[in-house]
Amino acid sequence: MSVTHIILKKGRDKSIRAKHPWIFSGAIQHIKGEPAAGDTVEVYSQNGDILGLGAWSPESQIQVRMWKMGKGKIDREFFKQRIESALQQRATIGITHLNTAFRIINAESDGIPGMVVDKMGDWIIMQCLSTGANHWKNDIAEILMELTGCRGVYERSDVAIRKKEGLQETKGCLKGEEPPAHIDILEEGRHYRVDVVNGHKTGFYLDQRDNRSLVGHYAKEKTVLNCFSYTGGFAIAAALGKAKHITSIDASSHALEHAQQAYELNKLASKQTKNICGDVFKLLREYDHAGKRFDMIILDPPKFAENRSQIKKAARGYKDINRLGFKLLNPGGLLFTFSCSGLIDANLFQKIVSDAALDAGCDGQIIHKLAQASDHPTRLAFPEGFYLKGLVCQKIIS
Ligand code: SAH
Repeated sequence: MSVTHIILKKGRDKSIRAKHPWIFSGAIQHIKGEPAAGDTVEVYSQNGDILGLGAWSPESQIQVRMWKMGKGKIDREFFKQRIESALQQRATIGITHLNTAFRIINAESDGIPGMVVDKMGDWIIMQCLSTGANHWKNDIAEILMELTGCRGVYERSDVAIRKKEGLQETKGCLKGEEPPAHIDILEEGRHYRVDVVNGHKTGFYLDQRDNRSLVGHYAKEKTVLNCFSYTGGFAIAAALGKAKHITSIDASSHALEHAQQAYELNKLASKQTKNICGDVFKLLREYDHAGKRFDMIILDPPKFAENRSQIKKAARGYKDINRLGFKLLNPGGLLFTFSCSGLIDANLFQKIVSDAALDAGCDGQIIHKLAQASDHPTRLAFPEGFYLKGLVCQKIIS
């Protein structure tokens, strides 16, 4: 069977030549062939230059995601090389020897569009978000078994975004052994308990690793309020950083049970931590009315904006919790505030936080601007890969 040729409209080759990996349906002039979903296609400019090879996704607005620029072949060896490079890059920046859990493949930014691969102890958790990634998942799972010596590869493609690619949600073991009910991981000296089968995303928010370390750095002798705690990620970082006391709030009792087990794994004194199952919006108001104050507050909410129509509502949600956060801080206190909504960019987020301080009747300074951890890189030509923004604000003393 001959390979399908995709010929782009005049001028639409520019972004591909600049190494952006997406081709939208509107950029395509002509399709020579009848590719099936996930097939490799060759992409040409209007004047016949070969631009590269990509995966065909007929149901998505992004109809081709590029595997590589220029000529070549997309086969098992191609993916093996990409994964080897990604592992080597993580080793070079010191991720692999300090952590038993880290992101191996960060989709487009690691040259495998739509594919997320996380190592969680002896298991690998994979998420396939595009038809191309889905097409190659079994080969990639085999390669991962070979290269990492892991005990199994488990797929967590139970995400709604797959619909846009015409794919069903799915989860289950792809290769090797089924993962156990929980996996204990070590992150820069911190122990965590991860439920890779039923937890969020691939089980743990690896993207906050560097920010957790920063929380640990500032926590000494402070009273900490950790909002949207999940399994205690920031709480453990603060506790090991010798915080005086940490209150963690989350709506999920299951997540908080794992947090409690992780406190024990870290041998924390039971009086140092407290978990509260409840609604952050409601509890922050109650704390304010009761006159409670903290030295450090962490706000790491779930994604408030899933699409453009939700941006305004999301902005109101961020402003509300940040306003309450500023009110509950002691003078000189630190607010660690995050947004993982890709649709709220860094400038808008900063504006929201600034307005929140104004409404709280106080002022603050930004002492750090934060981002996703270094094993979640953003390819230079792919700014869409950047999604996690954080600010550390210090409340002005007078
Ligand atoms: N900070 C965590 C990740 C937070 S994920 C870490 O570093 O691992 C977001 C969490 O917010 C989820 O655990 C979810 O259960 C919780 N959540 C969502 N809405 C909430 C609400 N209104 N009140 C309390 N918790 C909420």
